[in-house]
Amino acid sequence: MDSTLAAYDLLFSIVAFVLGATVGSFLNVCIYRLPLHLSVNEPSRSFCPSCKKQIPWHQNLPLLSWLYLRGRCANCGSRIALRYFVVELITALLFLAVWRSFPWEIAIAYWLLISLLIVATFIDFEHFIIPDEITLGGAAAGVAASFIIPELMGTEQRWIALLWSIGSAVLGYGLLWVVLEAGKLAFGKKKIRLEAATPFTWTRTGDDADFVVGEERGLWSDHFAREKDQLLLHCNESRIDGRDFGPATLRFHYNRVAVAGEELQLDGINTITGVVRELQIPREAMGRGALKFLAAIGAFLGWRAVLFSVFAGSLLGSIVGIGAMLIGKRVWSAKLPFGPYLAAGSLGWMFYGEALLRWYIGQLGPD
Ligand SMILES: [Zn+2]
Repeated sequence: MDSTLAAYDLLFSIVAFVLGATVGSFLNVCIYRLPLHLSVNEPSRSFCPSCKKQIPWHQNLPLLSWLYLRGRCANCGSRIALRYFVVELITALLFLAVWRSFPWEIAIAYWLLISLLIVATFIDFEHFIIPDEITLGGAAAGVAASFIIPELMGTEQRWIALLWSIGSAVLGYGLLWVVLEAGKLAFGKKKIRLEAATPFTWTRTGDDADFVVGEERGLWSDHFAREKDQLLLHCNESRIDGRDFGPATLRFHYNRVAVAGEELQLDGINTITGVVRELQIPREAMGRGALKFLAAIGAFLGWRAVLFSVFAGSLLGSIVGIGAMLIGKRVWSAKLPFGPYLAAGSLGWMFYGEALLRWYIGQLGPD
């Protein structure tokens, strides 16, 4: 390569990396604020989550500041999670990899998708949800991007790309919906005997409730799919809105609880607490967010990516899940954060999908 060209090549690569680190810094803000329903642009300046002091720009340089301050707030000295550094680094490296692998207009669309994947992954791991801003917003962005850059769908016709993109989003949603429903039929209900009696809380949050057993937390609605689904808690202690029911079995439907011959509507209840020794859940639950998330992936990457992401994501999720059980990190879980595995699967497709497809077609060929 000509030395001027080489210099430009290096320069653009550095720009892609620095841009990635800067975007990563903004993604950290989204990861922290979106699940708490805080605005991502108000206040516009970052603040320390511990002492709430605004962080001046020179202490807010992506990657460098975290290293320079050795992961502590300059004002109060409290730890700043390693996650901030990791997110900036991953974003920077992926932005660089995308820039070097794809034509520039496709690279820009992929940068957007990568940002969505990273935010979804880190929020899902921590909160077991993927916000609609990411999933539905992402699907809309993917459809728009495919219209503007039809090459994303492997065509030059805008309207055809638009249809492919929408079709792939629908396929993503529908496919996971089928997987989810089939899983319920296959696994049915699940009985969990806890090693030691464990405190639990059920706390109303608007139309839904937070349901926490020991370290496991999740949304109440994610446990129920059908009218007749039941969730049983065999308790050593139980209290409903301060009323003591002592040792009892709480038999829940999605909207009511039966205890000691009484039936109470959950609508009229704010908190249920107690100590549980055994529980029976309708099944392992996958959040509905994953369905919408796969729709977003489909809108950007097309229908083949949808199939591949589900396949690779399930495989990866099972390996990690079994591994976690083997090393005893997880005794039971009612929740599967599927988002991160879908994200990993779709990244795999983004970089290696074409090559994989060519290899596969080569295998099928007669010579
Ligand atoms: Zn601080």
